[in-house]
Amino acid sequence: MPNLYLLLAIFSASTQPAVAYSQVLNLRPVLESCQSGAESRIAIRRFTKNGDQSLVLVNPSTLDTQQARSKDWRCKIIGFNDILGTRYGDLLNRSSSPPYTLQNDGIRHSTRGLEGVYLTVDLCPSTRKGFNEEIFTSLMDYSKGTTVPVGVSISGYWISNHPQEFNWLREQDLSGKLRVTWVNHTRTHPYNHNLPINKNFLLEPQANIRSEILGLEVQLLSVGITPSVFFRFPGLVSNEKLIGVLKSYSLISVGSDAWLAKGEVPTHGNIILIHGNENEPVGVVDFMRWIKKYRGDFLGLEDL
Ligand SMILES: [Zn+2]
Repeated sequence: MPNLYLLLAIFSASTQPAVAYSQVLNLRPVLESCQSGAESRIAIRRFTKNGDQSLVLVNPSTLDTQQARSKDWRCKIIGFNDILGTRYGDLLNRSSSPPYTLQNDGIRHSTRGLEGVYLTVDLCPSTRKGFNEEIFTSLMDYSKGTTVPVGVSISGYWISNHPQEFNWLREQDLSGKLRVTWVNHTRTHPYNHNLPINKNFLLEPQANIRSEILGLEVQLLSVGITPSVFFRFPGLVSNEKLIGVLKSYSLISVGSDAWLAKGEVPTHGNIILIHGNENEPVGVVDFMRWIKKYRGDFLGLEDL
């Protein structure tokens, strides 16, 4: 793993003294069943954090993730079939099953029939200054002091170009004003406007999915954020092979059935997609108009 992310983190640290940075090395995917006392979790990553052997653990019932020192857990290697029958295994299985569509594959709608909507805000790389903070402040106004869940599809290049905005989001999460599910939207978010869609985004021949997935996770782990089990493909573009690779990283692809910039109006069970990086103002305008009239719940992606 190149240490570019660490260098970027150190550079950002010099301008953001409030954030404690950890050294994250040798991050790799695993699938292990782990016990600590009466607690059971699924380990999906091993890594070294400031010299400590560490794990990313998933609660297979709630889909919540946490970091832990490996010496506090007893783990054994398992296969994918061993997690089938859990909510996590079943959702992962569903998101990686055919048909494999070129666009918007994965989970696009609530699988549980819950009342409410799932808001996802994509932060793809952007050279524009700032971001659409109003999306998040309107959510906080809406929730009137209770913690409101939101999925943030975060890319590494957006973080590098927007350290202050990223820290602001992180602080809203830490202080409980928002409950952010950090969705992996890759490190560099490959895109070439000259290429056809079936050879673009992560389907570009030179795209390196391992470095895209783990590079972003290193950036999050180094500032104390635990990545979630969710992933959004750049451009929502994927194929069967990529879906298979994503499954081997134990990540669930999240699509959308309410892309506001395309004029789709959210109803119960929808996964809403808007861009919060100042690149798609029409979607944000539609969202601000819609939330003024909305009276239902916002749900966390863990409840998909
Ligand atoms: Zn994107």
